[in-house]
Amino acid sequence: MADEIRFDDRVAVITGAGGGLGRAHALQLAGRGAKIVVNDLGGAMDGTGSDATPAQKVCDEIKEMGGEAVPNYDSVAEWDTAQKIIQTAIDSFGRIDILINNAGILRDKSLMKMEVADWDLIIAVHLSGTFFCTKAAFPYMREAAYGRILSTSSAAGVYGNFGQVNYGAAKMGIAGMMNSVKLEGAKYNIKANTLVPVAGTRLTATVLPPQVVEKLKPEFVSPVAAYMCSEACELSGQILVAGAGYFSRAAVVEGPGVFFEDPAAVTVDDIAAKISEITNLEGGQEFDSAPAQTGKALSHIKLD
Ligand code: NAD
Repeated sequence: MADEIRFDDRVAVITGAGGGLGRAHALQLAGRGAKIVVNDLGGAMDGTGSDATPAQKVCDEIKEMGGEAVPNYDSVAEWDTAQKIIQTAIDSFGRIDILINNAGILRDKSLMKMEVADWDLIIAVHLSGTFFCTKAAFPYMREAAYGRILSTSSAAGVYGNFGQVNYGAAKMGIAGMMNSVKLEGAKYNIKANTLVPVAGTRLTATVLPPQVVEKLKPEFVSPVAAYMCSEACELSGQILVAGAGYFSRAAVVEGPGVFFEDPAAVTVDDIAAKISEITNLEGGQEFDSAPAQTGKALSHIKLD
């Protein structure tokens, strides 16, 4: 039996924790001793409206099970309000150790039908919301030389989905953001990872049959979320995939590639002739940072 992972004396802010995955993560962490700021704007699935009830209800649930929680009803989507979310942790519990960027909405439409407003709102909630909360939490984590940041991406971002140009862009942007947060946090024991969940929630209930939703409980995702928020987690900059008991890792991999001796002599016909070698991923590798990748491209050049 592995040692039990606990979060005693740790303070977690979980955005969008009034329902779905965020609520499941909150109950998971609270059940293992964390103090929780349950943030939720409480709006509709398309981002309209607000309601204090969902965040309040999850706080009540946590208190009923003997845990500690405070609600916050601010939106992640603006810098001023995002700061208030993090401030709630400082004011209530004096610290922030864990941030789960989870709040989210959908405005699905095909590219042709997508209004600029649908793009802007999705980017504001998912991408800017993740940036704002991370930026507001980071100084406290740096000061404490400890932090766990888990942000929520999606298969729609990593792999694409019809009707989700806005959402997919924001979600892959989040993974990209965490790649750099990982580097900036490394010195301070701040780990930044990304979760690609699949769960039956109000966001997916409209597209999945009820019997499938039943097999995709958000609770099934939370153990891996909790792991990435734990002291035991040494991973940073990783994308973990979870749902229905399936756990895995997704990554950006670059193939071994092709080096041409004389870059100036390469023609479009040379590219066509080598395209299967250029696109081959077998024997590929991951890079820890942009400079590491650039290093590979530069590795064969001869300086005069
Ligand atoms: P959900 O609708 O149950 O939960 C999202 C919560 O975020 C809601 O309670 C909502 O009120 C809150 N919220 C929305 N906008 C907010 C804002 N501006 N500020 C604060 N709170 C806000 O949906 P869910 O499926 O639990 O989604 C959680 C996260 O997981 C989202 O980021 C979503 O994109 C992502 N995700 C979910 C799935 C899935 O299969 N359910 C798949 C991939 C990614």
